[in-house]
Parts: sequence; C-alpha cells; structure tokens
Amino acid sequence: MGPTVAIIGAGFGGLCMAIQLHRAGIGSFTVFEKGDDVGGTWRDNTYPGAGCDIPSHLYSFSFERYSSWTRRYPGQPEILGYLEECADKYGLRSRIRLNTEVVSAAYDETLGRWRVRAADVAEGRESEELFDVVVSAVGQLNRPHLPEIPGMSSFAGPSFHSARWDHSQDLTGRRVAVIGTGSSAAQLIPPVAEAAGHLDVFQRTPNWVIPKPDAAFNRAARAVFHHLPFTQRVYREWIYRYAEGTLYRALAGGWSTGLLRKRALDHLHAQVPDPELRAKLTPDYPIGCKRVVIDSAFYPALTRQNVDVVTDRIVRIVPEGVETETGIREADAIVYATGFLTTEFLVPMEIAGRQGRRLHDEWKDGAEAYLGIAVPNFPNLFLLYGPNTNLGHNSIVFMIECQVRYIMGCLPQLTERGPMEVRPEAMDTWRRALDRAMDHMVWQAGCASWYKNAAGRVTNNWPGSTPLYRRLTREPRPAAFRFAR
Ligand code: NAP
Repeated sequence: MGPTVAIIGAGFGGLCMAIQLHRAGIGSFTVFEKGDDVGGTWRDNTYPGAGCDIPSHLYSFSFERYSSWTRRYPGQPEILGYLEECADKYGLRSRIRLNTEVVSAAYDETLGRWRVRAADVAEGRESEELFDVVVSAVGQLNRPHLPEIPGMSSFAGPSFHSARWDHSQDLTGRRVAVIGTGSSAAQLIPPVAEAAGHLDVFQRTPNWVIPKPDAAFNRAARAVFHHLPFTQRVYREWIYRYAEGTLYRALAGGWSTGLLRKRALDHLHAQVPDPELRAKLTPDYPIGCKRVVIDSAFYPALTRQNVDVVTDRIVRIVPEGVETETGIREADAIVYATGFLTTEFLVPMEIAGRQGRRLHDEWKDGAEAYLGIAVPNFPNLFLLYGPNTNLGHNSIVFMIECQVRYIMGCLPQLTERGPMEVRPEAMDTWRRALDRAMDHMVWQAGCASWYKNAAGRVTNNWPGSTPLYRRLTREPRPAAFRFAR
C-alpha cells in the first residue's frame, strides 16, 4: 500500500510525482487539479505563438522520451499533448480530480496526518480528507499578475492577460496594445503584429534577447529518433551540457558572460537596423539579471510598419486606450503580458503546520525551503518547484525530477519512523549556503525581476549548477530531519 499522498496540481510536477508513485506500486495517491484538464502552465497559456524556449528533447521527462516532437522548439499544443499522453499512458486519469481546488491543508498533530480541504470549482462545495503526505506541485508561474494601472476597468474594449487569452476576440485588423515585453510578450507579439491593423508594444524595461535556433525535424530525423532511441539521449545530453556549460557560467559571472552579451547584441544589430529603435531595445543592466528572452521572431515583429514600441510611461488606462505621459494611444484591445505573482508561493492555499503555524506567516520575509522541498514545522509536506529552484538557463523538468526522486526516497523513511520534518539547524545551514552562492549570481545586480520579492531577496532561483542540485537531492539525509518515532 504505502502512505496516502495528496498531490496538488497536475502540471509537469504533479504528473511526475504521480507517475513515480505509480511506478513504485504506490496507488494510494490523489491528484487535485483546479483546472479542467492536466497540463498546468501548458493548459493555461494558449496565447498565439505560445511555446517553450527550451528544446523539448530536454524539456520533457528523462524516463519518458518522445520521438514525435515535430520541431526543436514545439508549440504549446504539442507540449500539452505530451503531458496528456503521459497521464493516459500511466493510467493516471482515474486518480486525478479535475476542477477541484485545494483551499487548505492543516497538519493534525494527534493523528500525524494532513487534513486536506478541497472545493469543487463549479459549485464551491468543500470536503475534507486525511492524507499522510502532501506534495505541492502548483509551480511558480500559475497566478497571472495584473498591474495596478489606474482606470483599467474603464477601458471600453476587451482586455485580458496573456495566460488567460480570450480566443473569442478576433484581433484581425484592430488596434492592439500589448503591455510588457517579457518571454510571453516576445512570443505573442509576432503573430499579433501580423494580424493586427496596428500594434503598440508598451515596454517599461528592455530585455536581453538571444536567437532561438528553431527548426522542424523532417521525417528522416524523426525516424532516427524513433528507431535509434539512444540518439534522443545523446541529443538531450548535448542540449543539457550546452545550457549548463555556457548559459549557467554566464549567469554566475563566468567566462561566457561576455560571449552571451555579444550574442545578444549581435542579434539586436542583425535584426533591428533602425538605430533609434535599437537604442530603445538595448538593456542597461547585466545580461541574465532578468530572464533572458530566447526568440528570433520578436525583433523582426517590432520593426514592422504597423508596430510601435512605446517607452513613454503609462499614466492610466482610459476608455479609448492607454494614456502615457505624452498622450493617449488608442486601442481596440489590450493584452496584459505582465507576468505572474511569482514570489507568493502556494497562495491562496492556507497551509497550517504544527501548532497551527501558518506557512504564509513563516514566509513573511520571503519563501524558503530546505533544498526547495521541505519546511521546518511542516512534517510530511513536500514542495515541487518550490523556493529557490527556478532556473534561468536550463530545463525545470530536470529540477522536478530531482525533487520527485528525493521525495520518493523520503517515503520509506516516514513510513518506518513516522512523520518527518526538516530540522531548523539544517534549514539554517541551507539558508547560509544559499546566500553565499547567491552572491555570485547576476540576479543580484541592479535590476527588477520576478526572481526577487519586494524586499529584494531572490526567492525563486537556484544559484548553483544543476549537477550540484542533483547531487544534493540524490537521497534524503536522515540527520537533517526529525522523525515522530
Ligand atoms: P515577465 O517576464 O514577468 O514579464 C512581464 C512584463 O510586463 C515585463 O516586461 C514587465 O516590465 C511588464 N510589466 C509588468 N508590470 C507592468 C506595468 N505596471 N507597466 C508596464 N509594464 C509592466 O512575464 P512573462 O513574459 O509572462 O514571463 C514570465 C516567465 O515565464 C518567463 O521569465 C519565463 O521563465 C516563463 N516563460 C517561459 C517561456 C518559455 O518559452 N520557456 C515562455 C513564456 C514565459 P518590467 O521588466 O519593467 O518589469
């Protein structure tokens, strides 16, 4: 049998956890998913042009390789299809409760178990169940951030966030305003620019942009991947090593920083001939401080006749469009490509650990967790893609697999010795090591980014290499935990 496990979320993390439990013969798990299907961010982000800027041979499970990727960087429908296939292949559907949102989880010290309350999204009806273990797999990029610009509700036309694309709106020939120029905006701007009559792109801060060397896999290439599966492994390894060897070194201030910067500047010069526009698009902070945009279609879209890059400060939204400090830019539709509430981990769930301690109170100065996975005073609660586990340079699926393997290693220990809780001393040592490593990283430089909380602490990113993270999470160290028995 094994312990009962509540998994919250059915994206990459939740599915990975469910698959490994299934493979280990532990059938006593339930996946709670507030959406109407699996896929997480790949179910939510359906904006035109949505895709992943990490090649899918790496941005997929190492144990579930897929020879049918149609291109190096497939679009959102293909990635979502992959996750749906994984859910089907491992027979997970019967264990996933769709349209069911976990509202709270409270640790019952007498029972040594978690009381998980979940609500039916349509009817709001709540019910409670007991679980031995709770695994949060809600991710870092699941709650859209809408800016607080005065007058937003006064806008006369349709407006929506990039992660809540309104497909009922036909933007063909219309005047469109896109606010934001991050990775989501960079992907949606080219198709929107093509369809729109006019597009105003409101840029507050320019991003560093490097090319995305996309290409379709022809039938021969796919046949090779299919019939010689080791070629997928080799290709995956090659992408991984490139990301680790070059991009990570650049973020850590190593030998490749200058190379990466040059690559971005060359890309800008090659794609944007107009010096005035180029100046607007040139960042004034170190490369990597904000997430580097990887895209080859973004700059060409900005050079189109029907596109303006507006850098004047937005003052308010008015019924007819966007008012900046220099006047009103009329728009029929506004797209907010303004990112996500990234530093509020596990919000809006109410999580209470021992002695009723609220997780959000413990995290009032910034979310933190031992290895990004475990929190003192919260026995048998494990996090996937938790604090300080985001990567600016490699596949998050790699990190998720490390975390799932670690949690799988915890299960026999907590079954034998009772609920396990990371010791505060282990957490302190971890925090100090993290702070030391963070000192070398470019994210600390003077830029605002979604990696930092309001106090300027980097709560989202992992400052080490991914091989180091794999080593640290290879297996749980019992000495780092306190067990009930
Ligand atoms: P983001 O990187 O946080 O970008 C948000 C954009 O909105 C920024 O340009 C920001 O400007 C702007 N903005 C926010 N509030 C504003 C305001 N009040 N006025 C004007 N502009 C405002 O969000 P994102 O583009 O959705 O991307 C988030 C993350 O998702 C990415 O960094 C990446 O990790 C992930 N993602 C990945 C892919 C992929 O292909 N793998 C694709 C999409 C997203 P400032 O820079 O000035 O704050």
